[in-house]
Amino acid sequence: MTETDNNGIDKVIACENLTKRFKEGKLDVEVLKGISLDISAGEKIAIVGSSGSGKSTLLHILGGLDLPTEGTVHVMGKNIAKLSDKERGDLRNQSLGFIYQFHHLLPEFTALENVAMPLLIRGSSTTEASSKASDILNKVGLSERLSHKPGQLSGGERQRAAIARALVTNPNAVLADEPTGNLDHKTALQIFDLMQSLNQEMQTAFVIVTHDMQLAEKMDKIYSLVDGRLSNY
Ligand code: ADP
Ligand code: MG
Repeated sequence: MTETDNNGIDKVIACENLTKRFKEGKLDVEVLKGISLDISAGEKIAIVGSSGSGKSTLLHILGGLDLPTEGTVHVMGKNIAKLSDKERGDLRNQSLGFIYQFHHLLPEFTALENVAMPLLIRGSSTTEASSKASDILNKVGLSERLSHKPGQLSGGERQRAAIARALVTNPNAVLADEPTGNLDHKTALQIFDLMQSLNQEMQTAFVIVTHDMQLAEKMDKIYSLVDGRLSNY
């Protein structure tokens, strides 16, 4: 697999003075309060913070799944607020991969089919999609599990498959929201080591939300989110 092509753009994601408010009845709750953050090509960062501090909200906005109330977010040099929903979706599909706490693999499909799916959706041929999917499944250590369905995989194996699915399109950045939150510590360490080695090999940037400081310390930088404000850890 080739290295991620960043088209000469050195900041994969950049946000400036980002705020996010949610209306709750008559209350306007400010969840993110003036966040500025750059994610460079190939960089791997951790965001730590207690439950409810706004980590998922921040990740959604960085990934163009939601828009900020104020401030700007650029993904691959494009201001996401200035794009149509379709353009924003296309940008996400081209440039980003997502991993969640629960794997979100489709239970009726095999590991290979699950991982090939993002490529099929983008119009790749079955042959090409299967070949790339089996390549990346090999990289995450699942070459013996290609025809297993999610229910036949262990928790760690399912997250490996989810990582493979996020990376199969060769994205510029992967956004992972507590990707090991559902795993025991030993398996979580293996998953972080795996993301680290894929980051080195493919030059994909990783933004990983975690509760676990020992895991966060494997990243290049750690930010902490407290009451909607981000600071260097
Ligand atoms: P974390 O991921 O750090 O646990 P979240 O980003 O999920 O935190 O949530 C931060 C705060 O924002 C919480 O108080 C949550 O209730 C609130 N929140 C998140 N999404 C919404 C929403 N769509 N509408 C209203 N409030 C929300
Ligand atoms: Mg969360």
